[in-house]
Amino acid sequence: MILLVEDNEANSVLATAVLEREGFRVEVAASAAEALDLLYARDFALVLMDVQLPGEDGLTFTRRLKSHADTATLPIVALTAHAMAGDRERALEAGCVGYVSKPIDTRTFGSQVRELLDGFRANVRKEGIAS
Ligand code: MN
Repeated sequence: MILLVEDNEANSVLATAVLEREGFRVEVAASAAEALDLLYARDFALVLMDVQLPGEDGLTFTRRLKSHADTATLPIVALTAHAMAGDRERALEAGCVGYVSKPIDTRTFGSQVRELLDGFRANVRKEGIAS
């Protein structure tokens, strides 16, 4: 299950359709507050986080999730507007494991997300063996 935090409905409808075609189940939140409600209610394998949200922005929310024990290990991938120079660095500094530029490329978005998720799982396995 993937949590998509995105306030633009056209974007979230498109991203959800692509991810469901890839075989993922998706829940959508339009704000940090809505996302928190969903995070309390169920487990997610990955969060796709729009950087620009009304109210608390996506990177401030990411830092908050990373600072709480319950959500610190949740992998978060930033969704950043293409033209915003420095967004990638800011996303990684905030604790995101990666980023995807918007507008999404519907031909590659599903496999991008699949690779990010597989990469995270591989890291978890390696850490598990090491400890
Ligand atoms: Mn937005």
